[in-house]
Amino acid sequence: MTFLTSLLAAVPAQLATSLAWQAFAALFALFLALVVAELIRHRRIDRYLDASFATDVLYTVLIIGGVYAWVQQPLVNLVDGALRQHAPFLYLDLLRGAPEPLQLVLFLIAVDFCRYWKHRWLHAVPWLQAVHSIHHGAENLTFLTTYRMHFVEYILDGLITLLPVVLLGIPPAMWLPVYLGLIVLSALHHSDTDISFGWLNRIFVCPRFHATHHSADRTEFDSNYAAMFSVWDVLFGTANFRPTRPQRYGLPQLQMPRSFLGQLIFPARLIARRWKRRREPQATTAT
Ligand SMILES: [Zn+2]
Ligand SMILES: [Zn+2]
Repeated sequence: MTFLTSLLAAVPAQLATSLAWQAFAALFALFLALVVAELIRHRRIDRYLDASFATDVLYTVLIIGGVYAWVQQPLVNLVDGALRQHAPFLYLDLLRGAPEPLQLVLFLIAVDFCRYWKHRWLHAVPWLQAVHSIHHGAENLTFLTTYRMHFVEYILDGLITLLPVVLLGIPPAMWLPVYLGLIVLSALHHSDTDISFGWLNRIFVCPRFHATHHSADRTEFDSNYAAMFSVWDVLFGTANFRPTRPQRYGLPQLQMPRSFLGQLIFPARLIARRWKRRREPQATTAT
């Protein structure tokens, strides 16, 4: 009882200072809102009781509670420090002197542009494809599927985000509040809701747009790469505005392990299997 009381007493202080706690609180608020919305619409909410959702929760706790603070940020800081020391000319500070709201909008556009191309590479380069398959392996989409990501992909994401920071010179104090907003937005994109923004769909990503990207149909899976602004997909010819959500999600051809540890080593096993298969015909030809 004393432990529980002291834990509850620590919550306000943690919420005021810890980005991880703030992220968890924002996600919990979204969870409650989604459950209420689904109950009102008489939809089944038992997806929050199955093993797939438990896996999503585990990824979320590990990424927000550990990978972000202990792996991604130190690595990003290391690269940032090395660049500042050895290549300071890269820090162009293109937005220096611009009004803060303008800096923020341009920074979001730049980050999303970099992430769009990162996502395309994740689908085009075989070893990156294997790493990214973890995110696409989910057969049930929930708002936490956004965190079902191999830690290698999460590290890549941090390094890609550093690029606009370097070029534009955005201070971290400006970026951090936006980070919380993006968490909720990305979680909403992965929720099992059929929200569409009408004509604004051609500018902003809506849940149906990203659900199409998670379709089990391979032709739909290679579309809708944007995270925030669907306009990138429109401009580069990868947009798919289907009128409803897909019927099935996941990668049925890959037999993705259900356990977290199985998924952790899955990309390495997949790369090894493909490499072996590629060598087999050569061996046969040689003999
Ligand atoms: Zn993808
Ligand atoms: Zn996704």
